[in-house]
Amino acid sequence: MNISRRGFIKLLGAGTACYGLSRMGVDVAQAQTYAMSMKTAGAKEVVSICPYCSCGCNIIMFVKDGKFISSEGDPDYPVSEGSLCAKGAAFHALHVNEHRIVKPLYRAPGSDKWVEKDWTFMLSTIAKRMKDARDRDFKVKNDKGQVVNRLDTVMHLGSALMDNEECAVTVQMLRALGVYQIDHQARV
Ligand code: SF4
Repeated sequence: MNISRRGFIKLLGAGTACYGLSRMGVDVAQAQTYAMSMKTAGAKEVVSICPYCSCGCNIIMFVKDGKFISSEGDPDYPVSEGSLCAKGAAFHALHVNEHRIVKPLYRAPGSDKWVEKDWTFMLSTIAKRMKDARDRDFKVKNDKGQVVNRLDTVMHLGSALMDNEECAVTVQMLRALGVYQIDHQARV
Protein backbone atom coordinates (compact mmCIF):
# COMPACT_ATOMS: atom_id res chain seq x y z
CA MET A 1 0.00 0.00 0.00
CA ASN A 2 1.39 3.44 -0.93
CA ILE A 3 0.76 5.78 1.97
CA SER A 4 2.22 9.16 2.97
CA ARG A 5 3.83 9.78 6.35
CA ARG A 6 0.85 11.96 7.32
CA GLY A 7 -1.60 9.30 6.20
CA PHE A 8 0.36 6.65 8.09
CA ILE A 9 0.24 8.67 11.33
CA LYS A 10 -3.52 9.22 10.92
CA LEU A 11 -4.09 5.53 10.23
CA LEU A 12 -1.88 4.49 13.13
CA GLY A 13 -3.67 6.92 15.46
CA ALA A 14 -7.10 5.76 14.37
CA GLY A 15 -6.15 2.07 14.57
CA THR A 16 -4.57 2.38 18.00
CA ALA A 17 -7.47 4.40 19.33
CA CYS A 18 -10.10 1.95 18.03
CA TYR A 19 -8.22 -1.08 19.38
CA GLY A 20 -7.67 0.54 22.79
CA LEU A 21 -11.20 1.82 23.11
CA SER A 22 -12.87 -1.44 22.12
CA ARG A 23 -10.69 -3.33 24.66
CA MET A 24 -11.98 -0.94 27.31
CA GLY A 25 -15.57 -1.64 26.29
CA VAL A 26 -16.11 1.76 24.71
CA ASP A 27 -18.50 2.03 21.77
CA VAL A 28 -16.09 2.83 18.92
CA ALA A 29 -18.87 4.11 16.66
CA GLN A 30 -19.76 6.64 19.34
CA ALA A 31 -16.12 7.66 19.68
CA GLN A 32 -15.92 8.15 15.92
CA THR A 33 -19.00 10.34 16.01
CA TYR A 34 -17.32 12.42 18.70
CA ALA A 35 -14.14 12.63 16.66
CA MET A 36 -16.10 13.87 13.67
CA SER A 37 -17.51 16.67 15.77
CA MET A 38 -14.01 17.90 16.60
CA LYS A 39 -13.05 21.34 15.44
CA THR A 40 -11.21 20.38 12.28
CA ALA A 41 -13.55 17.61 11.15
CA GLY A 42 -14.68 18.26 7.60
CA ALA A 43 -12.29 21.15 7.17
CA LYS A 44 -10.32 21.58 3.96
CA GLU A 45 -6.56 21.15 4.48
CA VAL A 46 -4.40 23.68 2.67
CA VAL A 47 -0.62 23.29 2.79
CA SER A 48 1.11 26.61 3.18
CA ILE A 49 4.61 27.79 4.16
CA CYS A 50 5.48 29.59 7.37
CA PRO A 51 6.82 33.02 6.30
CA TYR A 52 8.73 33.87 9.47
CA CYS A 53 12.19 32.49 8.75
CA SER A 54 14.23 30.78 6.07
CA CYS A 55 13.48 27.27 7.40
CA GLY A 56 10.23 27.62 5.45
CA CYS A 57 8.39 24.92 7.42
CA ASN A 58 5.20 23.62 5.86
CA ILE A 59 2.05 24.44 7.80
CA ILE A 60 -1.30 22.78 7.23
CA MET A 61 -4.11 25.31 7.42
CA PHE A 62 -7.63 24.09 8.14
CA VAL A 63 -10.34 26.04 6.36
CA LYS A 64 -14.01 25.56 7.10
CA ASP A 65 -16.91 27.57 5.69
CA GLY A 66 -14.40 29.97 4.16
CA LYS A 67 -12.72 30.63 7.51
CA PHE A 68 -9.21 29.78 8.68
CA ILE A 69 -9.98 27.79 11.84
CA SER A 70 -6.75 26.02 12.88
CA SER A 71 -3.22 25.08 11.82
CA GLU A 72 -0.55 22.50 12.53
CA GLY A 73 2.82 21.28 11.24
CA ASP A 74 3.03 19.05 8.19
CA PRO A 75 4.51 15.58 8.97
CA ASP A 76 5.27 15.13 5.26
CA TYR A 77 7.60 18.12 5.14
CA PRO A 78 11.11 16.58 5.24
CA VAL A 79 12.95 19.39 7.07
CA SER A 80 10.79 19.79 10.19
CA GLU A 81 8.73 16.56 9.93
CA GLY A 82 5.64 18.24 11.36
CA SER A 83 7.27 20.16 14.19
CA LEU A 84 7.06 23.94 14.41
CA CYS A 85 8.82 26.52 16.59
CA ALA A 86 6.81 28.81 18.86
CA LYS A 87 6.03 31.24 16.04
CA GLY A 88 4.91 28.57 13.61
CA ALA A 89 2.90 26.82 16.32
CA ALA A 90 1.07 30.08 17.04
CA PHE A 91 0.32 30.64 13.35
CA HIS A 92 -3.45 30.53 13.69
CA ALA A 93 -3.55 32.66 16.84
CA LEU A 94 -1.31 35.26 15.20
CA HIS A 95 -3.85 35.72 12.41
CA VAL A 96 -7.18 35.16 14.09
CA ASN A 97 -7.13 36.83 17.46
CA GLU A 98 -9.55 39.27 19.03
CA HIS A 99 -6.60 40.95 20.79
CA ARG A 100 -4.76 41.65 17.55
CA ILE A 101 -4.31 45.37 16.93
CA VAL A 102 -5.44 46.19 13.40
CA LYS A 103 -5.32 50.01 13.46
CA PRO A 104 -2.31 52.27 14.06
CA LEU A 105 -2.01 53.53 17.64
CA TYR A 106 -0.03 56.65 18.45
CA ARG A 107 1.33 57.76 21.82
CA ALA A 108 2.50 61.36 21.73
CA PRO A 109 5.79 62.26 23.47
CA GLY A 110 5.13 62.58 27.21
CA SER A 111 1.62 61.13 26.98
CA ASP A 112 0.42 57.99 28.75
CA LYS A 113 -2.42 57.38 26.28
CA TRP A 114 -2.59 55.56 22.96
CA VAL A 115 -4.77 57.24 20.34
CA GLU A 116 -6.04 55.79 17.06
CA LYS A 117 -4.58 57.55 14.01
CA ASP A 118 -4.80 56.90 10.29
CA TRP A 119 -1.92 55.59 8.21
CA THR A 120 -1.34 58.96 6.49
CA PHE A 121 -0.62 60.58 9.85
CA MET A 122 1.56 57.70 11.05
CA LEU A 123 3.68 57.37 7.91
CA SER A 124 4.18 61.11 7.42
CA THR A 125 5.12 61.51 11.12
CA ILE A 126 7.65 58.66 10.95
CA ALA A 127 9.10 60.02 7.67
CA LYS A 128 9.45 63.53 9.10
CA ARG A 129 11.16 62.32 12.27
CA MET A 130 13.51 60.08 10.33
CA LYS A 131 14.47 62.95 8.03
CA ASP A 132 14.99 65.34 10.96
CA ALA A 133 17.21 62.80 12.77
CA ARG A 134 19.20 61.99 9.65
CA ASP A 135 19.71 65.65 8.68
CA ARG A 136 20.89 66.35 12.22
CA ASP A 137 22.98 63.28 13.09
CA PHE A 138 24.24 61.56 9.93
CA LYS A 139 28.04 61.14 10.07
CA VAL A 140 30.11 60.78 6.93
CA LYS A 141 33.40 60.30 8.86
CA ASN A 142 34.30 59.22 12.38
CA ASP A 143 36.74 60.95 14.72
CA LYS A 144 39.70 59.28 12.96
CA GLY A 145 38.62 60.65 9.58
CA GLN A 146 37.50 57.25 8.33
CA VAL A 147 34.42 57.16 6.09
CA VAL A 148 31.54 55.54 8.02
CA ASN A 149 28.29 56.95 6.51
CA ARG A 150 26.23 56.08 9.57
CA LEU A 151 23.36 57.31 11.70
CA ASP A 152 24.11 56.63 15.37
CA THR A 153 20.90 58.01 16.87
CA VAL A 154 18.36 55.68 15.22
CA MET A 155 17.82 51.99 15.82
CA HIS A 156 15.23 49.62 14.40
CA LEU A 157 13.55 46.76 16.23
CA GLY A 158 11.77 44.39 13.85
CA SER A 159 8.46 42.82 14.73
CA ALA A 160 8.28 39.05 15.21
CA LEU A 161 5.44 39.21 12.67
CA MET A 162 7.61 40.53 9.85
CA ASP A 163 8.02 37.92 7.16
CA ASN A 164 11.21 37.21 5.18
CA GLU A 165 10.43 39.59 2.33
CA GLU A 166 9.40 42.44 4.66
CA CYS A 167 12.65 41.98 6.57
CA ALA A 168 14.72 42.07 3.37
CA VAL A 169 13.12 45.32 2.15
CA THR A 170 13.31 46.92 5.62
CA VAL A 171 17.03 46.13 6.04
CA GLN A 172 17.82 47.55 2.60
CA MET A 173 15.95 50.77 3.45
CA LEU A 174 17.68 51.09 6.85
CA ARG A 175 21.16 50.49 5.43
CA ALA A 176 20.49 53.14 2.78
CA LEU A 177 19.66 55.61 5.56
CA GLY A 178 22.87 54.74 7.46
CA VAL A 179 21.07 52.87 10.25
CA TYR A 180 23.16 49.93 11.46
CA GLN A 181 21.59 49.18 14.87
CA ILE A 182 19.02 46.65 13.65
CA ASP A 183 17.56 43.79 15.59
CA HIS A 184 14.81 41.27 14.99
CA GLN A 185 13.37 38.15 16.58
CA ALA A 186 14.45 35.88 13.70
CA ARG A 187 18.18 36.49 14.35
CA VAL A 188 18.00 33.87 17.10
S1 SF4 B 1 9.56 30.55 12.14
FE1 SF4 B 1 9.58 28.48 13.06
S2 SF4 B 1 7.89 27.37 12.11
FE2 SF4 B 1 8.31 29.21 10.86
S3 SF4 B 1 9.72 28.53 9.24
FE3 SF4 B 1 10.97 29.30 10.94
S4 SF4 B 1 11.41 27.48 12.24
FE4 SF4 B 1 9.70 26.94 10.88
